Amino acid sequence: MNATTNTVSDAQAAANKFLALNSGNLAAYLEACIHCGQCATACHFYEVTNDPKYTPAYKLFPMAKAHRKTKWPWNWFGGPTVTEADLEEWEELLFDSCTMCGRCTQVCPMGIDIASIVAASRQAFSAAGRGPSDLFEAAENVLTKGSPLGVTPAVFDGRVEWLEDDYEVDLPLDKDKAEVLLTISSIEMMKYPKSIVAMARLMNQAGVDWTFSTKGYESTNFGFLAGKPHIARHAIEKLVSAAEEIGAKTLIIPECGHAYGVLRWSGANILGRPLPFEVLHITEYLAKLKKEGKIKFKTIDGSLTYHDPCQISRRGGATDAARYLLEDCTDFREMTPTGNFNWCCGGGGGVQAMSRAADLRHKVFQIKMKQVEDTGADMMISACANCRLTMDDSKEHWNWDRELESLVELLAENLVEDHPHPFDAKPHLATNV
Ligand code: SF4
Ligand code: SF4
Repeated sequence: MNATTNTVSDAQAAANKFLALNSGNLAAYLEACIHCGQCATACHFYEVTNDPKYTPAYKLFPMAKAHRKTKWPWNWFGGPTVTEADLEEWEELLFDSCTMCGRCTQVCPMGIDIASIVAASRQAFSAAGRGPSDLFEAAENVLTKGSPLGVTPAVFDGRVEWLEDDYEVDLPLDKDKAEVLLTISSIEMMKYPKSIVAMARLMNQAGVDWTFSTKGYESTNFGFLAGKPHIARHAIEKLVSAAEEIGAKTLIIPECGHAYGVLRWSGANILGRPLPFEVLHITEYLAKLKKEGKIKFKTIDGSLTYHDPCQISRRGGATDAARYLLEDCTDFREMTPTGNFNWCCGGGGGVQAMSRAADLRHKVFQIKMKQVEDTGADMMISACANCRLTMDDSKEHWNWDRELESLVELLAENLVEDHPHPFDAKPHLATNV
């Protein structure tokens, strides 16, 4: 699809955007690569294919080419130019085969943040109308429906009421004032609603003054993933104005990795002013409540291992929170590698939403299957609904029978409550709206 006018080619539109974004740290990164190739084996896409085109440094090429043109001494003779063929070749490399996981940066001797260059490159491709149509559609849904998966405010309101009735749990909605604004990912609302109930149970037991808001509930940011900054900003503005209206001091991101990374680490820059509240991932907030003695857990029996969502551990800094919350588990087993060097599930960075990337994504999941099997644990826990969706899909593809649970659901099931709750006796919810 060509989103540009007839007078500006796709290649020119992309090149213009590359140049507009080529400043500060990105330009320094583009200058710094010494082509050592160490990043290759850090990337899951290279690891499962051995195809050199998946070397992370190779993904820098279109932006590096546009950057070189700015330094070309004889510009009137041309110089390096981004071409239609470049766009054709790199679209798959910048969208379908980069989860923006940041693992390559961990090994790069120059500390190059390739994920941030991929994010900028996606903006250039998007400006040229190039990218996966299903990812772009999900991003546009944020503008037209308030959510990538079509959870409009009315749908959100109805689902909250339904969860309250079905699970006999208090889900405060649209309180005038509250200390904490709790947000959701529409992946949870549509596919894993029990994790929303679990968050509420944990917050209620701790006596937190919290609310949901129909004005700002969706924490995912598909505008960022699709390279559409105006949509990224729109999503952040909604959350910020909802939190400001109720005077929230803390905004909690649910089990969603990229939602956390975008708001916490890029939110102020995208918005153009400091965020007027603290942003915490639900695991960080629950760890804080546990440390303050406001929530307690029973001993968790059975062997389990933890998958670190890239944007929560490696790029998020909340690696220890999950382990602290799982310390009541009698048989916790770490994967190898683990923590900040754990492997990606293969579906981050919007890759899960790209149907054409499914085959490659399934291949990548073989790394995770081996990691889990090597621990011998019966169950894998994660704290990201997008990882969970990716892993459930890949599990089905490979007919793999290990259990997969959400961390907040496991914690809610093992919460020491003042009054016994019927929650655990309830059957699983239907997942379609
Ligand atoms: S950010 Fe992750 S997926 Fe992207 S190139 Fe680096 S290691 Fe590969
Ligand atoms: S490890 Fe860093 S310096 Fe080496 S090729 Fe990769 S991006 Fe370039």
